[in-house]
Amino acid sequence: MKSTKSLCPECLATIDASILEENGKTILEKTCSKHGYFKDIYWSSSKQFKRFEKFLHDGYGISNPIGLDGNCPHSCGICSSHKTSTILANIDVTNRCNQVCPVCFANASASGYLYEPSLVQIRAMMQMLRNEKPVPCPAVQFAGGEPTMRDDIVQIVKMAHEFKFTQIQMATNGIKLAKSLALCKDLDAAGLHTVYLQFDGVTAEPYLINRGYNALPLKLKAVENCRMGGLTSVSLVPTLAKGVNDMQVGDIIRFAVKNMDTVKGINFQPISFAGRINKKERLEKRITIPDLFNLIEAQTNGAITADDFYPVPFVVPISHFVAAEEGLPNIEFTVHPHCGTGTYVYVENGKMIPITRFIDVEGLLEHIDDLAINGEKWLGKSLGNIKRMGSLISSLPKYIDTAKAPKSVDVKKLFIDVLKEGTGEATKEFHRHTLFIGAMHFMDLYNMDLERIKRCGVHYATPDGRIIPFCTYNTIHRVEVEKKFSTPLIKARAH
Ligand code: SF4
Ligand code: SF4
Repeated sequence: MKSTKSLCPECLATIDASILEENGKTILEKTCSKHGYFKDIYWSSSKQFKRFEKFLHDGYGISNPIGLDGNCPHSCGICSSHKTSTILANIDVTNRCNQVCPVCFANASASGYLYEPSLVQIRAMMQMLRNEKPVPCPAVQFAGGEPTMRDDIVQIVKMAHEFKFTQIQMATNGIKLAKSLALCKDLDAAGLHTVYLQFDGVTAEPYLINRGYNALPLKLKAVENCRMGGLTSVSLVPTLAKGVNDMQVGDIIRFAVKNMDTVKGINFQPISFAGRINKKERLEKRITIPDLFNLIEAQTNGAITADDFYPVPFVVPISHFVAAEEGLPNIEFTVHPHCGTGTYVYVENGKMIPITRFIDVEGLLEHIDDLAINGEKWLGKSLGNIKRMGSLISSLPKYIDTAKAPKSVDVKKLFIDVLKEGTGEATKEFHRHTLFIGAMHFMDLYNMDLERIKRCGVHYATPDGRIIPFCTYNTIHRVEVEKKFSTPLIKARAH
């Protein structure tokens, strides 16, 4: 049994919680002195929970904190106790939306107010993110509402480009992209790297339930316009819910494979519960990351299995290695291992081969970490850098099983080129043949684990100069922040 802190779903008080094993599942339970006992499924497989747990890494957080320590997560801002710097920052640019989804309570018409930060406020948020030390936030995502509702969205993307974010993303329902090829071209020219496309499934049904209409033709058109407009890094984002689209996981993967020239990844998001939901319904409807693994395995006939997936912090040794090579701190993916997961799948003649089947990824990453640790003593010495990289390149073939590797490409050479070139043509070549399949399970008030929150790397920047983890922003801070900076809808419409 492990102890942690959580929140009372009724009064939001920070309370003690326990994580324990029950019938092969990992459970979170907690008792509020005022509102009683709560229990939820944390991970539906204790075996996978333990496999992932060993990859926990504590990061160095940020050295110029904004918020005060001591009342986590309520007085959040970001504070010196936080263990991961901002890996991806969300900036909500509007709460207006051109869909009225039955499942959404966040849009302007439902909330009754308009939240739309000015360009000056957006600039200040970007500046705050780029000021983070020791590592400036490298990636920003514009979200909402629907970001394309703003006429100045292209200008906002350009601004992010000027701030030198290395990854600029936009989360969108795709409606405007489907309707305007010109907008896709303009966003591409402005420097947008990735379109995070809300994508519930490959038939009409999930859209009818989640969005109230059949949005599939629009999604297909949005992908097509992205392709034609040069936005060739689309990530499909299905919110997974039981009985809605959990039976379409395999079909969504196959759709992505067919569109790999434009669709580079899928980010499954098991549903989290907003507002009150009774225990029976919650336990029945909860999908956790191991459930997703089972769905993927069953619906791809075993082509991709649970063991092909690793948690986000699995790649921390690569950050150590790059930091040693460059002699500078590098962004570290030290989010909690039970938050998110991913794998790369190589596609050859339509056949999916997870890279874990032909690369000993655990051995290779251990070796990379060893080289990085040795690198500490070589830090800043160019001979050390050459030795480190040379050692990695010469040992790489040992970790690749060419008999099991795809035949259409020289995998060893490709990986060596990627290591030598960094983000050059070899990396593009790698992405041409591979699909990223990942998941992040955002928390709600029932399954909240503050140990995960403290390691969160997906943050929101707010107009009052704060940086707040995604899961606590959406559960406890959003309403207060938006109200502070919003206009009542009737007044806003009059302008
Ligand atoms: S969530 Fe992180 S930044 Fe916010 S109060 Fe807790 S430790 Fe500090
Ligand atoms: S957003 Fe939530 S699920 Fe994702 S890393 Fe942060 S705490 Fe974890």
